[in-house]
Amino acid sequence: MAHIRLVDARNPDPHLIAETAAIIRAGGLVAFPTETVYGLGADGLNPAAVARIFEAKGRPFTDPLILHIADPQALPALVLEMPPLALELAHRFWPGPLTLVLPKRPVVPDIVTAGLPTVAVRMPAHPVALALIRAAQTPIAAPSANRFARTSPTTAQHVQDDLGDRIDLILDAGPTPIGVESTVLDLSRPVPTILRPGGLPREALEAVLGPVAIWTQMAEGPQPSPGLLPKHYAPQTPMILVVGPPPQMRAALRELVTRYAAQGHRIGLLIAEEDRAEMANLPVEIAVLGPEEDLETVARRLYEGLRKLDARGLSLIIARDFGAQGLGLAVRDRLMRAAGGSVITVGESDE
Ligand code: AMP
Ligand code: MG
Repeated sequence: MAHIRLVDARNPDPHLIAETAAIIRAGGLVAFPTETVYGLGADGLNPAAVARIFEAKGRPFTDPLILHIADPQALPALVLEMPPLALELAHRFWPGPLTLVLPKRPVVPDIVTAGLPTVAVRMPAHPVALALIRAAQTPIAAPSANRFARTSPTTAQHVQDDLGDRIDLILDAGPTPIGVESTVLDLSRPVPTILRPGGLPREALEAVLGPVAIWTQMAEGPQPSPGLLPKHYAPQTPMILVVGPPPQMRAALRELVTRYAAQGHRIGLLIAEEDRAEMANLPVEIAVLGPEEDLETVARRLYEGLRKLDARGLSLIIARDFGAQGLGLAVRDRLMRAAGGSVITVGESDE
């Protein structure tokens, strides 16, 4: 099992950070907290170190990684051009849950970008991540610290459960505050395109950029961003997502539970606080993500809720949708992928 070292989220111990940075510099792997989810980090300019990330995760080499920097000034050294838009977005949203995709410089190893001519870069808003990157004096390549295609980790224990036998060290600063991954914005296309909705809401980007395109293709085959594979962020338990206005969703949840329970299924429900009363007396395990309107809480608890239900030995998880506003879009994206595209739409769509 990996060593879990406790670290103060706001004021990380410089000795521990220096020790951890030395592991990165020596080509090792370290799991560390960011404001989105826990990352599995290695020296992003050392191809052999980066290869160890892919091995530990069981991640295909066709799935590129994000480089994490501690200062916007580190960006020009990694990318060929600095469009004024990139400068403005970095100024507005860094540090924060926004990843920018830009044409790469040769210094960025091909293994990081899966051979793509572009590189994904972000500056995380977590004191531990920033201190580690600064001390390592190199961009840190870091995907989420989970086995490939599984649910992302929002606590050190999640990392231990998934990767404990494959890595040496986990820095534990408590649960991650945002709980879903960064928004990936491709600036190498003629129109800025959200490849993956995430912790920075689309509305915040559109306030700066005007309307942005969103990559929606759910098909298998070549993808601009492998987080876009139809099945990703997934629990082991089969899952269905119900989408629609809340009253109709609640009616559909009751109906589905009744039908599947009659077939002998052991069912888990991933729902909102407002749904709970109507689900009383149903033969189900329940994980409540939060109040419908409190999307920050819903996003923060999403992966914990999925993991909790996944550990119960159930045969089916039924989740409800939380809309497409703000963080709801990222939550919907992760739920749809966790459900492998098994989505039931009910009632009138208002979107
Ligand atoms: P993860 O760090 O596991 O959350 O995944 C990183 C996300 O960033 C994935 O969706 C990647 O496909 C995406 N990404 C990384 N590099 C690139 C790139 N050069 N072009 C497009 N997407 C990328
Ligand atoms: Mg991931």
